[in-house]
Amino acid sequence: MTTPTTDLSEAIAHARAEIRSALDTYPDRLALSCSFGGPSGMVLLDLALREEPRLPVFVLDTGLLFPESYALLEATEARYGIRVEAVTPLQTVAEQAAARGERLWERDPDRCCGLRKVEPLRRHLQGYDAWMTAVRRDQTATRNALAAREWDFENQVVKIVPLAAWSDDLVWSYVREHDLRVNALHDQGYPSVGCVTCTRRVRSGESIRAGRWPGFIKTECGIHAPPAGSASS
Ligand code: SF4
Repeated sequence: MTTPTTDLSEAIAHARAEIRSALDTYPDRLALSCSFGGPSGMVLLDLALREEPRLPVFVLDTGLLFPESYALLEATEARYGIRVEAVTPLQTVAEQAAARGERLWERDPDRCCGLRKVEPLRRHLQGYDAWMTAVRRDQTATRNALAAREWDFENQVVKIVPLAAWSDDLVWSYVREHDLRVNALHDQGYPSVGCVTCTRRVRSGESIRAGRWPGFIKTECGIHAPPAGSASS
């Protein structure tokens, strides 16, 4: 497990070492996930592409992301000269509605996340040995035991988490120092941006992920930790 630090230079050095090691261990078999819904993802993308500009980058495109997330994706492609691969569900939103009823996310968000995030990720990672993601231990209680590198049993690949020990302050310091573009919704009260249908503004004093799945106890989509139940709160 990585050691928490408050020093940005030290944190960058540690993350770069993790990324370099992953690139060396899984040449051409490593992919980077970015949601375009949080500043951590933009930091990891910047760090990783500095190490390997040809690293495959993908987004789990549920078809329900905010326009601001799609705009950030396009701006990122232009800035880094990359193409972000959109990994999509087997069914469009309309097809899902026809098969399972309208607005499944209001009745069974675990099932909806399973169909629109978990299954697509599993399918996509069949082409890789490892993936990198920007989740952090301090984001939720379900993530506080994250290792920097661990076996992803669900997807049968190695999961690499170079920012596991980073704090929100470190992330924002990196964003400012490197003039990174982030999701425009962060300035409008959305510190964590998921699907339009399942994200609200957070109120003063709430945690950064308090706006996800409003009305449900659910705090995870299931790709990083079990969804921990989606009973109404
Ligand atoms: S966040 Fe909501 S809409 Fe998006 S996949 Fe999960 S339940 Fe469905």
